[in-house]
Amino acid sequence: MENSCLFCRIVSGEIPATVVHRTETTVAFRDIDPKAPTHVLVIPVAHHADVVALAADPSAAADVLATAAAVAEKEDLTGGFRLIFNTGRDSGQEVFHVHAHVLGGAPLGPMLAGQ
Ligand code: 5GP
Ligand code: ZN
Repeated sequence: MENSCLFCRIVSGEIPATVVHRTETTVAFRDIDPKAPTHVLVIPVAHHADVVALAADPSAAADVLATAAAVAEKEDLTGGFRLIFNTGRDSGQEVFHVHAHVLGGAPLGPMLAGQ
């Protein structure tokens, strides 16, 4: 737990969030500014800054993917979904506690803006 980290504070319950799924090692909660009908963030309980750091913890990485799959099922994303890990400056990553965006519930359009 890092006191200065927004998502660590969501894990601890200090900052409220709409949690849709929780396991021992992951938390999934609704994005505060949704970009699709379903927009859920999946994070590991353990603090890792980004997906590169998460890759060094294969068990946590697998748990994040399994929770993303569970969220897609729970949210009934039968038409499919998009999983995004923004990583570093060029991606526009804003929160440096790794999170998978689960986006779905409608056709999502091109993969990148302006395409
Ligand atoms: P990034 O740009 O780092 O990939 O995504 C960060 C995401 O966190 C954004 O989609 C943003 O809307 C979301 N977010 C930022 N602050 C909060 C918050 O306090 N609560 C929740 N639920 N989502 C947040
Ligand atoms: Zn954190």
